[in-house]
Amino acid sequence: MKRYWKIISFSLLGITLGIAVALGAYHFLQKEAGSVSGSGDAISNAEGSFADASSEAERLAKESIEAERREEERLNQIQVWLESGGRATIREGLIKAMHFGMETYMEAEPEITLVMVGDVLMHMRVTNSGKKSDGTYNYDHLFEPVKELISEADIALVNQEVIMGGKELGYSGYPRFNTAYEVGDALVAAGFDVVLHATNHTVDKGKEGAVNCLNYWKDNHPQIGIVGMYASQEERDTTYVYEKDGIRIAILNYTYGTNGLPVPEDMPYLVNLMKEKLIKEDIKAAKEVADFVIICPHWGTEYVHKATKNQRNWAKFFMECGADLCIGTHPHVIEPVEWMENEEGDRMLVYYSLGNFVNSTASTGEGVANRMLGAMATVTIAKDRKDGTVYIKEYGAEPLVTYVPNSGKAIATMHLDDFTDELALKSMTYQKDANFSVEFLQQLWQEVMGNLPN
Ligand SMILES: [Zn+2]
Repeated sequence: MKRYWKIISFSLLGITLGIAVALGAYHFLQKEAGSVSGSGDAISNAEGSFADASSEAERLAKESIEAERREEERLNQIQVWLESGGRATIREGLIKAMHFGMETYMEAEPEITLVMVGDVLMHMRVTNSGKKSDGTYNYDHLFEPVKELISEADIALVNQEVIMGGKELGYSGYPRFNTAYEVGDALVAAGFDVVLHATNHTVDKGKEGAVNCLNYWKDNHPQIGIVGMYASQEERDTTYVYEKDGIRIAILNYTYGTNGLPVPEDMPYLVNLMKEKLIKEDIKAAKEVADFVIICPHWGTEYVHKATKNQRNWAKFFMECGADLCIGTHPHVIEPVEWMENEEGDRMLVYYSLGNFVNSTASTGEGVANRMLGAMATVTIAKDRKDGTVYIKEYGAEPLVTYVPNSGKAIATMHLDDFTDELALKSMTYQKDANFSVEFLQQLWQEVMGNLPN
């Protein structure tokens, strides 16, 4: 979509410049003609003084003749200028302006805008918030305030922390989660294109939960990219690739573990685990079918705002295998963003953790407020027209807040810019952790993300 806007805006720029040149020329002519007829005014005034004795009617008639003469002179001047090359000048100006517009467009690189958010952590309060009086479920309210930014991006990724195993397995919260299929419908309605499913909760409901979830996606939203959890070895071995304007990006997803729960023996491919050999081979295969590789690890230490040594070691490994961008999830709080590079010229941007996208923890006390602050990674990936390199052109992050009202079901993820202290005071979070305020969240964002643009 963005590309067409570019064509339109550059063409408009060209046309505007063309019109500006033409108007400028016309204005110039008007002025030139005006200065000539100005001397005519002086003559007519002088004549006027001779005509003092004449009647008022005669004076008016003279003025009218004089005005006509001036107008004729003005038009003659313009005609003379146009014929002496002026017409060509205007035409050339217009053509030049149109060319400028086209060239500027041609030089513009193709690009992909990507956003990614963190954990959809369906605590029971969040799962219950979707229950309607007629017994049906709907979760559109959760993502409504941030929907615009998600749907505007070319590609939007979300970390589905918990399995959507359906009502038949019973909904449950911490520690072994299971939520409604309708959460998936709301994610799709919000504009997400890729759902990451390799988390420590993938097998919370065993093989059945994961398979139910995979079937739900396949039957209801086959266009959505499901990554990290697979129904067959063949699916697992097929790299997910998003392509637009000749740029192909691969997306890989792995989890550090599954909370000690076993991965079904007959489905070893069900969930992608962080194993060096597997990742190395996957990145290699991804580079054969894509220009740019994004790896999304589920890693780190919960509730810690800093990247651990373990995360840094893994990140270095991903970079050396050839990944270009790494966006992590799992700690339930935000962690910094940084460039990583080595002496061999490898380079990778890392978002260590995006925090929660939505949650309603049952915990209480200091630190609960921190879990309400999430980040939306915003990255523009472009292709250099000259050498074909696909690179990160721009990057930043948008601060988000989960608002859990003290009463009622209107849980929603909002932009921090739209959040108010009035809402904070009305929230359940404030009851659990009195730190929860706009200023607290802004300061926390600043401390962790620094001056990252949003
Ligand atoms: Zn997790």
